[in-house]
Amino acid sequence: MANNEIIHDILIVGAGLAGTWAALAAGRAGVADIGVLSKLHPLRSHSGAAQGGIAAALNNVRPVEGTGKRGPLEPIPPGEEPVDSWELHMFDTIKGSDWLGDQDAIEILVKDAPEIIYEYEHMGCVFSRLADGRIAQRRFGGHSAPRANYSADYTGHVLLHTIHEQALRHGVKFYPEWYCLDLIIEDNICRGVVALDILHGEIYTMRARAVMFGTGGYGRAWKITSNATANTGDGVALAYKAGVPLMDMEFVQFHPTGLYGKGILMSEACRGEGGYLRNSEGDRFMEKYAPGLMELAPRDLVSRSEQTEIETGLGTGQDQQGIDLDLTHLGEEKIMTRLPQVRELALEFLGIDIIKQPVPIQPTAHYSMGGIPAKASGQVIANGEGTAVTGFYAAGECACISVHGANRLGTNSLLDASVFGRRAGIHMAEFVKNGARLYPVSGDPAALSRERLAQFTSSSGSGRVESIGKLANELKETMTRNCGVFRDQQRLQTALSVVQSLQERFKRARIMDTSKRFNTDLLAAIETDNLLIFSRVIVESALNRTESRGAHYRTDFPRRHDEQWLKHTLAHNSADGSPVLGYKSVNIDWEKYPPQERKY
Ligand SMILES: Cc1cc2nc3c(=O)[nH]c(=O)nc-3n(C[C@H](O)[C@H](O)[C@H](O)COP(=O)(O)OP(=O)(O)OC[C@H]3O[C@@H](n4cnc5c(N)ncnc54)[C@H](O)[C@@H]3O)c2cc1C
Repeated sequence: MANNEIIHDILIVGAGLAGTWAALAAGRAGVADIGVLSKLHPLRSHSGAAQGGIAAALNNVRPVEGTGKRGPLEPIPPGEEPVDSWELHMFDTIKGSDWLGDQDAIEILVKDAPEIIYEYEHMGCVFSRLADGRIAQRRFGGHSAPRANYSADYTGHVLLHTIHEQALRHGVKFYPEWYCLDLIIEDNICRGVVALDILHGEIYTMRARAVMFGTGGYGRAWKITSNATANTGDGVALAYKAGVPLMDMEFVQFHPTGLYGKGILMSEACRGEGGYLRNSEGDRFMEKYAPGLMELAPRDLVSRSEQTEIETGLGTGQDQQGIDLDLTHLGEEKIMTRLPQVRELALEFLGIDIIKQPVPIQPTAHYSMGGIPAKASGQVIANGEGTAVTGFYAAGECACISVHGANRLGTNSLLDASVFGRRAGIHMAEFVKNGARLYPVSGDPAALSRERLAQFTSSSGSGRVESIGKLANELKETMTRNCGVFRDQQRLQTALSVVQSLQERFKRARIMDTSKRFNTDLLAAIETDNLLIFSRVIVESALNRTESRGAHYRTDFPRRHDEQWLKHTLAHNSADGSPVLGYKSVNIDWEKYPPQERKY
């Protein structure tokens, strides 16, 4: 073994739900040598911040008879008519996706859902319960039945802890605070990654028979975001640099209820439990936009409605750029048992007690529907024909399988990461057990990374004068202003020229901290590079798509245009860094689920 080289049968980057499920599933299937890299302590992965719930049609509750679809919920007595089914979950997801989701993948997602919830339950996950002991369920936006399974508003936390324990039990080796710097693909075969041990500052080439990315989302390209600081889309940028295309990057979800001025999430469970949205006149304005579902319309629609109210002068909060989330009628007991974390966040960050007073919120960058294109087996595809990249897998938020299409429904993402993380683990185990080779790498990739990083600290006289923090802030500012809830040609062109000029300036970026151990300035530099790389793809994909679909809303093209645009975007990297855009058909069952107008 060469110096600074580490070898595993399976190497997974990311210890959120997707990566950990994959490790556990591969371990259970008999692969003994599994490494999992995480730039954070595994339990600090963003999955652990998820609040509201994980979807599955379990049929534990229904609206009280005669109270209509929005009435109070009661347990369904055993043996009585179910209100929910995988078919209903599937239809809601397809409609939520604005028909851009691949229907074969969605079918797998919703059919696997109940089983994966029971698997969590059998592993000891502490779900909230009904009085008879069954798992409690609540409503969520765009779902026509109450199918969000939850643990108060700490759902991601309990799921991640449950599965992390199981992975440890199966002997998975975690590399906490190791940072993946590069992905090595040669001749369409994935051979490994280059990684930095953050604590010691050493760089390693890590080789494996199968590599998986479960590196999460990229909300940190926006100024107002619900995402943790680590959500910088590293995996997406690294895959793109290594020649893998990126799919549907223009579709970024803005969650309707980010804490005003901060972006921190006030879970959709607030509305699932019955919360109202009010404008400055005190009106529940959703009546105008989605009279059927009101506050529980899908996120893209609610965020646009809020933004419209704000832009017509009916905003609340300081500067009237917010909307009021009113939970006061829910009462103290419900808030303290179902939404304790949300209450704490509003108190801590805005000094507002949601039991007593409405809290101002605003749309916040939340979830990336696009990402690394993958099959339901987790295998990453290299082109529109679906050719797999040998030995490379992706699952969770960094992947685009695509089950969320143009807009994700709340609670479908924890499900996506769990279901497809597990499937990727099973497929990788088969692949390895069937004799997958450990391919060699050319040259010394670790040395190349070392040289690249050394440039950030090269001494004066090199013309490196740009500050990383400044570049990152300018990017976030322009993405929020010009590539947000509402987009048009002019704003997107502005965003593009800003991103291009920031990429030029980045070549002259430098950092002051030259220390080897735990150099957070260096990490910020690498992350900013990644933010710029994928932001460019987002903006160019958004510029090209001259229609409005799901979360991608063009005020200059306000209609969905199926004849021209019912297709996925595939962006390939080119020699000069500009994306070359191609397209790929959507998998649709034209008999069962043909595209319809999307009304709520
Ligand atoms: C505040 C909040 C609340 C949410 N609530 C819900 C909800 O209630 N229901 C729902 O369905 N969804 C929810 N979501 C979305 C959902 O939590 C995520 O989409 C999902 O958890 C993503 O899981 P993941 O495993 O793909 O990635 P993550 O959990 O984000 O994990 C990413 C992993 O990749 C690692 N990583 C990244 N880059 C590198 C690198 N360069 N080197 C090494 N390691 C790296 C990180 O360390 C981390 O371990 C919420 C999201 C947020 C932000």
